[in-house]
Amino acid sequence: MHIPDIIIAIDGYSSTGKSSFARLIASEFSFLYLDSGAMYRGITLMAIENGFFDAGGNADTGRLSAALQSLDLHFSNTPDGSKTFIGDRCIEKEIRTMEVSAKVSPISAIPCVREFVDMRLREFGKRKRVVMDGRDIGTTVFPDAELKIFMTADLAVRARRRAAEMASRGETVSLETVVENLRERDYIDSHRETSPLTKAADALVLDNSRMTLQDQMVWIRGIIRERFGNVSD
Ligand code: C5P
Repeated sequence: MHIPDIIIAIDGYSSTGKSSFARLIASEFSFLYLDSGAMYRGITLMAIENGFFDAGGNADTGRLSAALQSLDLHFSNTPDGSKTFIGDRCIEKEIRTMEVSAKVSPISAIPCVREFVDMRLREFGKRKRVVMDGRDIGTTVFPDAELKIFMTADLAVRARRRAAEMASRGETVSLETVVENLRERDYIDSHRETSPLTKAADALVLDNSRMTLQDQMVWIRGIIRERFGNVSD
């Protein structure tokens, strides 16, 4: 199916399967896929490695802001697809650990961090044919995106998916720890002052608690046909 040059914004709660869905959409429609959460995770990893957190878990905003001036955080293509890099170091694995997950939401609530990421994301948007997932893509980064989806799913379903995904990467975490982390991130993400996670007025809600990825693809193909009418196969 060929669709016009649009931006597809996918927002929603943690571990609702946004990136798996976005990846599949990108591959089906030959779009570029961008994982905005990976940028926030990369900045969090950098903050941990540079000792920007105090014993109470609060980040030193001044040092963080100074470090962002020279942070070379980017996506690069590798034989296994696009991965997140700092300079020439691939950080894809390190940014998915529980340690980073536990600190990423407070870091993402800092305004200079959001400015840094937004500026980079908007650069990619200029080329259109982009599908991007995150928390504020349809509300703040691309408020004019032609198609916005807001994803949600039952907390227990999300926790099981996240724990299974972590186990497949060799990190064993109890289901309770994952539930707690998701609950906490959802809370911080939805209540922060700058660009909180919220459904854009014109976003379509997708609750995938009882849907497979294939079901979700059938759903989006229907939406695309309906919205963009004359799509050629
Ligand atoms: O998508 P992922 O779960 O990897 O995102 C990690 C964290 O990054 C989120 O919990 C949220 O705090 C932050 N984030 C954000 N805005 C985005 C994407 C992610 O604040 N657009």
